[in-house]
Amino acid sequence: MKIYVAQNSGFCFGVKRALKKTFDAAEERKKRIFTYGPLIHNKQAIEKLTDLGVESVDNVESAKESTLIIRSHGIPLSIYDKAKKKNIEIIDATCPFVRRVQEIAREYYNKGYKVVIIGNPNHPEVIGINGWCDNNAYIIENDSGVKDIEFTPKMCVVAQTTITLEKWNSIIDKLSEKAGELREFNTICLATKVRQESCADIAKKVDAMIVIGGYHSSNTQKLFEISKKYCENSIHIETSDEIPFEMLEGCEKIGITAGASTPEWIINDVVKKIENKGGD
Ligand code: SF4
Repeated sequence: MKIYVAQNSGFCFGVKRALKKTFDAAEERKKRIFTYGPLIHNKQAIEKLTDLGVESVDNVESAKESTLIIRSHGIPLSIYDKAKKKNIEIIDATCPFVRRVQEIAREYYNKGYKVVIIGNPNHPEVIGINGWCDNNAYIIENDSGVKDIEFTPKMCVVAQTTITLEKWNSIIDKLSEKAGELREFNTICLATKVRQESCADIAKKVDAMIVIGGYHSSNTQKLFEISKKYCENSIHIETSDEIPFEMLEGCEKIGITAGASTPEWIINDVVKKIENKGGD
């Protein structure tokens, strides 16, 4: 029996990096430390972090004189100043791809451009980017938002990293009528697309497919849908306790993929259990 783990599965680069920084910090500091908002939405990972003394807070004050970890979504610039004043050590795990968007927003805002962010106004990443241009950006989520934008001589457009290319293209088309000079920065990160493509590639060549991730995780559900399309014998599980060994009986090739909030140790655990056929 051969096991194929999708090349791009589980955490994206930015989340993996943030999690590593957090575990390293918790082990080095050996005291209660904080993350600015929950680091990831995965029950097992959060339990592990809690055991190590990592707690999520939604305001800087709660981390007074301690360590505050900035998650991959990033934060507004003003939070760094607040933390400094409260004597808080910052560990910055802002994803470098998000940092690029923040820096573009700041640079063009300082050059006198009106910044437009295409994305969800309530998403922490977008709130963070806006905080790099004095909370002065137009934030639009769909085509209909363009009509509320006034004509401006100089406009700079960036994207929330997880929007689709279709959304970007359709809004950019309309925005060109709203600006004298339009500087476009397509800052979409392709992590999700690549993960889905890897899932399809594996599902096409295996006898059974296991998709690991939270039952409420929409990106895991999407992976499961893709997997089923190419491999009838697909199943969605959360942890290695749910591996359907009867389903795998007689399968020569087994594929595994995982949603964006599934930690590597859960994926490895599933692989190990299948290799050992249920034993430890
Ligand atoms: S920008 Fe891409 S790599 Fe970075 S955290 Fe977001 S999805 Fe992950």
